Amino acid sequence: MYSNSLIELDRAHLIHPVASYRSHEKLGVRVLASAKGATVTDASGKQLIDGFAGLWCVNAGYGHESIVEAAAKQMRELPYATAYFGLGSEPAIRLASELAERAPGDLNHVYFTLGGSDAVDSTIRFIRYYWIARGEPQRDQFISVEQGYHGSSTVGAGLTALPAFHAGFGIPFDWQHKIPSHYAYRNPVGEAPQAIIDASLAALRRKVEEIGPERVAAFYAEPIQGSGGVLVPPKGWMKAMRELCRELGILFVADEVITGFGRTGPLFACEEDEIVPDFIATAKGLTSGYVPMGAVFMADHVYQTIADGAGAAAVGHGYTYSAHPVSAAVGLEVLKLYEGGLLENGRKAGARLMQGLESLRDHPLVGDVRGRGMLAAVELVVDKVRKTPLPAAAEPARRIFDRAWENGLVIRAFANGVLGYAPPLCCTEAEIDAIVERTRQTLDETLEDLDVRQALRA
Ligand code: PLP
Repeated sequence: MYSNSLIELDRAHLIHPVASYRSHEKLGVRVLASAKGATVTDASGKQLIDGFAGLWCVNAGYGHESIVEAAAKQMRELPYATAYFGLGSEPAIRLASELAERAPGDLNHVYFTLGGSDAVDSTIRFIRYYWIARGEPQRDQFISVEQGYHGSSTVGAGLTALPAFHAGFGIPFDWQHKIPSHYAYRNPVGEAPQAIIDASLAALRRKVEEIGPERVAAFYAEPIQGSGGVLVPPKGWMKAMRELCRELGILFVADEVITGFGRTGPLFACEEDEIVPDFIATAKGLTSGYVPMGAVFMADHVYQTIADGAGAAAVGHGYTYSAHPVSAAVGLEVLKLYEGGLLENGRKAGARLMQGLESLRDHPLVGDVRGRGMLAAVELVVDKVRKTPLPAAAEPARRIFDRAWENGLVIRAFANGVLGYAPPLCCTEAEIDAIVERTRQTLDETLEDLDVRQALRA
């Protein structure tokens, strides 16, 4: 058992992100104590496969001594260096250059942040700056996609299109607009790829027309919508949307905070989508979650416009921890690991994961299986023909998470009965198979849930 005092201290003092404070007070915290590879161990000694890589971030897996060494060495030599006042540090410069070399097309300029939310926030600021520098200050309207997630800063959460991030916070702002998601399983136009792409193109055109074509600054999309339920667009969707943005003269931002760094196979999902956006926002896998860091990739033409626009004046955007040397040293080491075999292993493990999850389609509760690489979801329903979601009374988020936990598996269980998977890229074949087996066991137990049985009968 966990130490009661720790649970009490947590209850009394630690505010948890995206949680019902009252439910959390009632249920108490589960304390994680250590981890190695793809396995996490809780404070009672229970071992679980982390099928969600923390929060879709520990792409390299836990316990890499070389990462610890890189951080410790940097902390000893130079634990902090500001990037203000024309100063810099070797790891940050090297990481920016290594990343620029690998980023798609002309995304040659890198702005380091502390995570994904401030990476998205930075793009919003840079985009406003860009349009003002171009002499079009009226381009101050932003468009994103329903079911999208773009972070939890006030402006980023306004681009996010998940109700929980808006309710009670007075957002979105009136300059933040949405178009419907490509969500294939529940799309009013059906599941045919071209119909979905056409619908999204038409929706973006309509939205730009409605706002006023001269007012729109940028369009934001995730290559795969993560927090919206791992929604994979049809092949060609990103490319079609990117091309339409070019035609409409608006900037295109790919939010790769989840999909970046091997999650879907390549280093950037945009490579597979064959696009070069004007910006890419990343975080998570950049340091594999060992220390906080995000990165904004900016295209040459945007950088030059901003630089010319500012001239001798400072572009007033920065954080104390921008380009942090310890995070950068970790980023460099993580990049070595990715290219030293982890990306390759992730691709193989991802194919096995998809195959394994596909085998669950015969289960009475499985309505849909989707994913790309090591990013996947299983959507549960109580009626496969009508695609009826699990009833709220069955508390899918809590009860399924708990059952999986008991079965030695950490997954993301969404409130609507979608199960999310994002295991570390280091997973062995046996671990992937165990993820699938433990999921089946969890689904069998969910089938016995009285609230689920009642809904199945209805
Ligand atoms: N953008 C996307 C697509 C994300 O999934 C996330 C986090 O999950 C963010 C932005 C925000 O990143 P962070 O939680 O590091 O601030």
